[in-house]
Amino acid sequence: MTPYELIRAKRDGGALPADALRSLLADYARGDLPDYQMAALCMAVFFRGLDESELRTWTEAMLRSGATLKRRPGSPPRVDKHSTGGVGDKVSICLAPLVAACGLAVPMVSGRGLGHTGGTLDKLAAIPGFRTHLSLAEADRVLDALGVCMLGQTEELAPADKRLYALRDVTATVESIPLIAASILSKKLAEDLDGLVLDVKLGSGAFMHTRESAGQLARTLVELAREMGCRAVAWLTSMHAPLGRAVGNANELLEAVDVLRGKGPADVRALTLQLGAEMLVLGGRAGNVPEAERLLEAAIADGSALAVLEALVRAQGGDPAVLEMPEVLLGPLETADVAAPRAGHVTDMDTLAVGLAAVVLGAGRTRTDDVIDHGVGFSVLRHPGEWVERGEPVFLVHHRPGQDVAEVRRRLAASVRVSEEVAPVPPLLLERVEASG
Ligand code: URA
Repeated sequence: MTPYELIRAKRDGGALPADALRSLLADYARGDLPDYQMAALCMAVFFRGLDESELRTWTEAMLRSGATLKRRPGSPPRVDKHSTGGVGDKVSICLAPLVAACGLAVPMVSGRGLGHTGGTLDKLAAIPGFRTHLSLAEADRVLDALGVCMLGQTEELAPADKRLYALRDVTATVESIPLIAASILSKKLAEDLDGLVLDVKLGSGAFMHTRESAGQLARTLVELAREMGCRAVAWLTSMHAPLGRAVGNANELLEAVDVLRGKGPADVRALTLQLGAEMLVLGGRAGNVPEAERLLEAAIADGSALAVLEALVRAQGGDPAVLEMPEVLLGPLETADVAAPRAGHVTDMDTLAVGLAAVVLGAGRTRTDDVIDHGVGFSVLRHPGEWVERGEPVFLVHHRPGQDVAEVRRRLAASVRVSEEVAPVPPLLLERVEASG
């Protein structure tokens, strides 16, 4: 079938034969299919979806468009975590070294922040000298030595997805569950994993706004991963408020390091332990979640998880001593507050608005080539469900001396609702999703 015939078949609700789809995606990866035809196909998929066999063919074709991380004989089982993204989500930074300290290999490929969501790579890049652009050969070496590496998507890894994601981004075809699932798994499965844990975020600060769509994405991901030979578990987790108390980059890094010191906010710690426990079970290091949690807590208490993070920072070009020097990571800052207009419970927080305020402050980007300031950010002093007195700060804005933050404060003030009524707060861990059968 020609590209024209494939586009027309999908547009009209027909099936895409595997061979024709495979060769179309291979042509696209090589640059032999024009963007306008790929964009038309993505739009047809947006409206018509992909059946199970099409989804698998699509994902495999993108996975095969590049290289994969190599595995040495006798190396420990490999596991990873992927989050669909949110505000204040710094879990990867504490989770990857923690799970590696428990004996599994974690080859973590992460993304940069875009739009209202932050990115793990930007938080790590707050460490002077830390290199997130590793070649796959370098990543293999760090992984073999330490059991963990943390890097960005390279030209070598699922390059078809890199190109396709950029195209979807400008053609309003990102929000398609099969295209999201294929995009995520083509990158993650290029790490040659034994197990994958998926954190599918739901709420005002997430991609997915309804329980139904988040559940559907989670089920699609775990079933597709299973069909492709990787055991996977997904958790639907709340993004009705920023995760933890820090929103920014260097301040989020410091909060994640706090978790490895046995401190840190309760929600960041709870999510790290739950996702980490699932990873240990998938990787065969523990028989069940409670046993796995005990191993994780021991690796925090004896300092071994923090030692792995320090070794990782050194191996990737940074100086781990800076993890104890907030003044170096943050630089000179001043603080402005955003006060509660009345006494009451914080009933609601528009997390998307908080993330967008961070972009206005300079901590995030709206275009891939925007330069960010790693030191600026917010402290979230009150979460939904917590009481605040009139005039007490709900947020602190940490900004550069002399920076005009009137617009940032206005946005943050508008993002929060305070009421005498108590409103229900959704739990952090909403639902566990496993593959059927
Ligand atoms: N994250 C990805 O990696 N791909 C998507 O399509 C959406 C979110």
